[in-house]
Amino acid sequence: NLVTVLFQLGEMATATESLDDATFGILGEELGYKIEIVSPEDEDKELLEGFGVDLEQELADEDDELLQARPPIVTVMGHVDHGKTRLLDAIRKSNVIAGEAGGITQHIGAYQIWTDHEEIDRAITFIDTPGHEAFTAMRARGAQVTDLAILVVAADDGIMPQTVEALNHAQAAGVPIVVAVNKVDKEGANPAKVRQQLTEYGLVAEEYGGDTMFVDVSALSGLGIHDLLDAVLLTADAGLDLRANPDKDARGVAIEANLDKGRGAVATVLIQSGTLEVGDAIVAGTAYGKVRAMFDENGDPVTEADPSRPVQVLGLSSVPRAGDTFMVTEDDRTARQIAEKREAVQRNALLAKGRKRISLEDFTKALEDGKVETLNLILKGDVSGAVEALEESLLKIEVDDSVQLRIIHRAVGAITESDVNLATIDNAIIVGFNVRPDLKARQAAQREGVDVRFYSVIYAAIDEIEGSLKGMLKPEF
Ligand code: GDP
Repeated sequence: NLVTVLFQLGEMATATESLDDATFGILGEELGYKIEIVSPEDEDKELLEGFGVDLEQELADEDDELLQARPPIVTVMGHVDHGKTRLLDAIRKSNVIAGEAGGITQHIGAYQIWTDHEEIDRAITFIDTPGHEAFTAMRARGAQVTDLAILVVAADDGIMPQTVEALNHAQAAGVPIVVAVNKVDKEGANPAKVRQQLTEYGLVAEEYGGDTMFVDVSALSGLGIHDLLDAVLLTADAGLDLRANPDKDARGVAIEANLDKGRGAVATVLIQSGTLEVGDAIVAGTAYGKVRAMFDENGDPVTEADPSRPVQVLGLSSVPRAGDTFMVTEDDRTARQIAEKREAVQRNALLAKGRKRISLEDFTKALEDGKVETLNLILKGDVSGAVEALEESLLKIEVDDSVQLRIIHRAVGAITESDVNLATIDNAIIVGFNVRPDLKARQAAQREGVDVRFYSVIYAAIDEIEGSLKGMLKPEF
């Protein structure tokens, strides 16, 4: 039937749902045996190709000899009050080169510091908005900016719900983690306990035979900050190939933006490759313009910015969203045309009915067609015991080898917008045990068509998911 055909095309629909034009187009082609799947990402890719730009191809064609090392881009995450903000301040002040100014910087969304590492001065870029919410929101827009995460855990408090949430988000994004065991100056601080607790989440300290670096710090006194920066660079060097070609038109991501009364649209962008120069024509999401001026985190004007460098850009026509990609174009006209085309696409998408994502019923149906192999779940509950019990029981469900259950995130607390974002990225179903979504989460789930299920009895949850998994089993031939 049509629903099945649509499902095979990667489009979730129910029999009563109306479809947008693009889907009808595809469906027509399918029935004529020509298949084309259009996702927003593909649509934008196609749009850019119309202007002779193919970003993926560009990266693939990059001449290895032109690649140069770039600084790692780091996000600080962790539970509220564990010292994320304080740590970002302490790191900013540790800057050996800008040190003489006392490290008074403005908040522009990110900053870069220099540190001496094995007797070489090296830069590190920090995203200045702590927490995983911004990180997840950007990922939901398809932008992965962060190379590495610092997980802050207060040694007097230990692992808390948002600690687990943060590490789940980092792990889901495949971002390596360095653990900053903070507040070691405090009475009752127990850094060993933090290490021990985190082993349960797959973060095993090097001194315990694992491969995660743990560093004891005090964001208050500055103790251990230099060691932490060393650990960041060691972890980046060990596991990441951080190189980019600086000798070409810049490409990157907008990480923060606002409308300033005097200066107009002000956007902080992070350069991912190439070098951005004053006078360049750029397009960022649906904003376009010519770079009129650029400023660094000290408020000083700069004329160019190379890979991993955050800069404030003046001259855009409007305010881009955090996570919007930006690129330098041949001329202003091209930038404007790309922006206008994107705006038209977004308008159409708004008019079209919100896409529906996977639901448990879809899974069973999909399995009948031999399509889906992994059921992604996000578990939220009111108490940790319930979440753990639910997880344990779910993982015990015996299913055929061809079917997999993956719990991509589990935490205590209400269902939040960032849970819905994660579900959107990984096409997951959210399971709430004695918890409900907040207003923002409910709106996001509705908009994105994420399946959110509520249970107050563990047995009922297991029963339903098991049923779907078993129904999911591929028919044997
Ligand atoms: P955030 O919510 O994670 O950003 O936490 P903050 O950086 O705002 O810190 C929360 C509180 O803990 C503040 O009162 C800080 O002064 C305090 N704090 C942060 N780091 C340390 C530390 O290393 N030692 C001590 N004693 N207090 C700290």
